[in-house]
This record gives sequence, C-alpha cells and structure tokens, in this order.
Amino acid sequence: MTIAANIQKIKSELPVGVKLIAVSKTKPVEMIQEAYNAGQRVFGENKVQEMVSKQPLLPLDIEWHLIGHLQSNKVKYIAPFVALIHSVDSLKLLETINKESVKNNRIIPCLLQIYIAKEETKFGLDESELNEIIIAIEANCFPNIMLKGFMGMATNTENHEQISREFRQLKTVFNHYKTKLTKADDFTELSMGMSNDYKLAIQEGATMVRIGSNVFGER
Ligand SMILES: *Cc1c(COP(=O)(O)O)cnc(C)c1O
Repeated sequence: MTIAANIQKIKSELPVGVKLIAVSKTKPVEMIQEAYNAGQRVFGENKVQEMVSKQPLLPLDIEWHLIGHLQSNKVKYIAPFVALIHSVDSLKLLETINKESVKNNRIIPCLLQIYIAKEETKFGLDESELNEIIIAIEANCFPNIMLKGFMGMATNTENHEQISREFRQLKTVFNHYKTKLTKADDFTELSMGMSNDYKLAIQEGATMVRIGSNVFGER
C-alpha cells in the first residue's frame, strides 16, 4: 500500500472530529512530502533535533507536534514553530515552555502527558504531580501556555481489556478536570492511541490518534 492509501484508509476509520497525527519519526522528508501531497497536514516527531532539521525542508503550513519526551534545555529550538506539545511531564518543563513562548511572542498549545500504563519505561505525570500543575495553571503562572488536554500511552500488551481500561481511566481524569478548569473551553483534546491500539482509543474517547507504522510502514 502507498502512503496515500494508508492515510485514506485510516481517515475512513476515524469518527468526525478525531484528528490523525502522522508520526514521521525516523522517516525521510520525501515520505513526509508524499503524505502531505495526499492531504495530510499534521505530523508528529519524538525528537527535537529531528523535527528541527525536517521542518525547514517541508511546506510551511505543516502542523508539527512534538510527541516524545522533551528536555527543558531543548524547548528553545522548537518554540518558534511547534503547533502542539503532547508530552509535558513536569512543572519545570511547563515553566520553560512558558518562558520560551514569551520570548517568541507566542501562546504554545500543550497537552499534559499522564502516566496510565503499568510499565516503568513510560513517561508521564502521576496524580499528585498533575494536581500540582493544575493548581499552578489555575493560579495563572503560565499565561503563554494554552492547556489543550491530556496525552497518554497504554501498556504495550495483547490484552485489549487492559488497554481499554487504561484509556478509560484517562478519559475519566480528563472529564474530571474539564469540569474544574477556568479555561475549560480550551481543554478539548485527548491524545491516545497508536498503530496497535487506536481503534480501542477511539472507542474510549480519543480526539487525536498518533499513528506511525500504519501510515509510513514499520520502522
Ligand atoms: C512512535 C510513537 C507513536 C506511533 O507509534 P506507531 O506504533 O508507529 O503508530 C505514537 N506516540 C508516540 C509518543 C510515539 O513515540
């Protein structure tokens, strides 16, 4: 199957309002251009250096989403153009993103990455860290950040029940904060689901799915 056919197939499976983030990490700009020519405009990268080197070589109207673990000292490289950061996993990182947003005269949209998997290797905030960040946001500590929602990664397992349960937990936490946030109107996105589990994620209320292999082929 071609990249264009892959995109068409996935899009035909997404309910209205669910966005496809085409995860282009490790893939060359030629393949990203091919996806672009097929109408795809939103791409996800997990490494700052890779995103920064690809961005100037591709059309300006691409929305670049950072989906991987982000170190504070690298925020400055993506702050001028990044469209959404999915992977905010500490208060310190949020402080840095806010500072770089100010420098660039921007409001940077962000998702908080919440720890839902039963795997040590995954990043994300636990309940108390999340609470602390929400309190800081409500106290207007980060005027140049727009909190758009949450991101989560389920455990890498064949157990669909478990994956669905983890996504459902994240949706519950999302609903809880949706009723609490002052700026609830901005808080609309739930980024969950990858090539292996996006159908389950959609059933549990995902608004963004991050799909790499099923678009570009195995890495
Ligand atoms: C690589 C990656 C994806 C996409 O994974 P696929 O299995 O190739 O669809 C999604 N989210 C994050 C955070 C990733 O690093």
